[in-house]
Formats: sequence, structure tokens, C-alpha cells
Amino acid sequence: MTNASEDCPTCGESLSVAEMLLCLRTEDGRRVCQTVLVCGNRHAWARWADRPEETLRESPYPPHLDRRRSQGVDR
Ligand SMILES: [Zn+2]
Repeated sequence: MTNASEDCPTCGESLSVAEMLLCLRTEDGRRVCQTVLVCGNRHAWARWADRPEETLRESPYPPHLDRRRSQGVDR
């Protein structure tokens, strides 16, 4: 089973991976990568990279679609 063809829970558009973000996960105090996915309507969703079974949650920040500015993400 692959997760390459997920649909946006809001609008049903297919999702694609926008970026990976290293974040501090408050619930266990660990730094973990989040996969950020976006659909064609720019809805943003995130999921912990080490928890592929988990449902998508709304991304707390807009993904940096402009790749020139993808540096300096620190949260
Ligand atoms: Zn959508």
C-alpha cells in the first residue's frame, strides 16, 4: 500500500508533498520531521514522518511554496 495518492480531506484534490519540516513535537518533546502536503487549492496538511498511519492534521503554517525562501524555517 502506498501513500502517494492521498486526497485533500477538504476538497478532494490529490495531495502532493510540499516539504519536510523539522519540528519540536510537544507531546513527547522530540524533534521530528513533519511531512507537509498541499492540494491544488493550497490547503495544507501535515503529518509526522514517523507516524505514517496517523491521520492528516491541518498544517499550522502555510507551506513555503516558493523554494527560494525555503531556508530559515525554524519552529
Ligand atoms: Zn484541498
